[in-house]
Amino acid sequence: MHYINEKVAPKREERLGSCIEFGGTAGELKKQFVGGCLRNNSRGFCQGSICQLLPGTAILNSIPESVVIVHGSLGCGGAGHNQNASIRWRQSLAGSDNPKGTLWLTTNLNKMDVVSGGEGKLEEAVLEADRRYRPASIIVVSTCVPGIIGDDIDAVAARIQPRVNAVILPVHCEGFNTKIMATAYDAIYHAIGRNLLDVPPEEKRVIVDELEEAAEKIRKSRLVNLFNVSSMTPFDENELVRILKAIGLEVNIYPCFAHPEDMWKATEAALSISTCPTHDDYILSHLQEKYHIPYILKHMPIGINNTNQWLRDIAKFFALEDNAEKVIAAENAGLEEALAPIRKNLRGKKAMLSAGEIRTFATAVWLQELGMEIVAVRPYHYDEFGEVELDKLAAVSPDLKVNVATVHPYETVNLIERHRPDLYLGHSSDNIWAAKLGIPILPIYGGANTYVGYVGAFDIARRINRVLKNISFNRHLRNNVRQPYYQSWYGEDPFKYIQAGGMDR
Ligand code: SF4
Repeated sequence: MHYINEKVAPKREERLGSCIEFGGTAGELKKQFVGGCLRNNSRGFCQGSICQLLPGTAILNSIPESVVIVHGSLGCGGAGHNQNASIRWRQSLAGSDNPKGTLWLTTNLNKMDVVSGGEGKLEEAVLEADRRYRPASIIVVSTCVPGIIGDDIDAVAARIQPRVNAVILPVHCEGFNTKIMATAYDAIYHAIGRNLLDVPPEEKRVIVDELEEAAEKIRKSRLVNLFNVSSMTPFDENELVRILKAIGLEVNIYPCFAHPEDMWKATEAALSISTCPTHDDYILSHLQEKYHIPYILKHMPIGINNTNQWLRDIAKFFALEDNAEKVIAAENAGLEEALAPIRKNLRGKKAMLSAGEIRTFATAVWLQELGMEIVAVRPYHYDEFGEVELDKLAAVSPDLKVNVATVHPYETVNLIERHRPDLYLGHSSDNIWAAKLGIPILPIYGGANTYVGYVGAFDIARRINRVLKNISFNRHLRNNVRQPYYQSWYGEDPFKYIQAGGMDR
């Protein structure tokens, strides 16, 4: 890939041809993506978007003993308040009785800085953060204003690093630079790859005992890097670690909540494992290219079959297939028994989903396996990593409606009214629209729940079953709130404003 030698990771539109504007069937999406036709799509009416800073700081604020400096105007750091609460709560869920909030600062650039430059303020902020908090790392996140006026955050970091105890990580998250918020994952992994993966001098042993070395080699031959996402709960991580340990592997988890001084250990593993292909390919490719660590990046372990496939791929690499088949047989048998009464209730119920690409598709696949009908899916973006799950969905429902969109609630409500699903699964920014339209909702990921692995498969089914038992709250809500759209909009084509780049839809 060789991007790591550049200051800035490329945006996903360029690196992967990712798109966020599409409305049509699953088959059309696949065909147009492969043909490169989605690159030039656009929306004639754009209701909103999500800046890459949001998922970016969700990950960066989770890194312990670090200070995140949002270099920009004050509002750019606003999500830090919400993320602070989530991170403290997650620490509590993980068993901490003294959760620590995030440490984030802003350089609060103003009009004068736009004219005269913000590098001075940034330098001051880094030095002050180091003096005041003594963190292990100081993460400098560049936003639109410094991106536009040309502040060189890498040059500032290089200039003052000798005066600072913490490792400085410049991260380029300028919102104007990309429409694909998933670009933030690459920006973060780019910074980690450039700054945190060198083995610290104290770890480089000169005299090595041969027996100790042999034992260490055996340990590392079964050690895997498990890449998490910021919306995973500790229960999700515990579940995946449980499954991997059951087949005989040792696990280290990155990057969320991983200590910056431990990131280099990712270079010692025998295998890297993705839990979300579109989240991790950048760092996995880097670890393979520079440190020769192979990787598994195909399935998201949501639902029984996907978790089975995920585990089989990993086990195959280590020639641990027998162990995996034993685990799979035991887990599947227990689950089938527990799910039998739930399946009866869910069969034929209609669902619509919206969230990040892979979790939307993978959850939809699991709901199909539970006997539900998927009427529409709304991934935030689409790229090559979605194809595996999209194919599974399309095999069951070739005409499944797919709306690739980051927010745009006018399209959401139109699709909901058109299909009237029995259940909507999404993040709160989407679920609110479904709830107002009288549709029962379930959060995708998050909360204090388990979403992945075998425990997660059961938990999703159990919670859907519970939600569908009594839908009167949403029915009353619909009857008692004012809907924001004219009735005439529901008769229009929901994808009316998506303009195909030179192709008829
Ligand atoms: S789009 Fe730009 S100005 Fe807005 S929050 Fe993102 S980085 Fe800040």
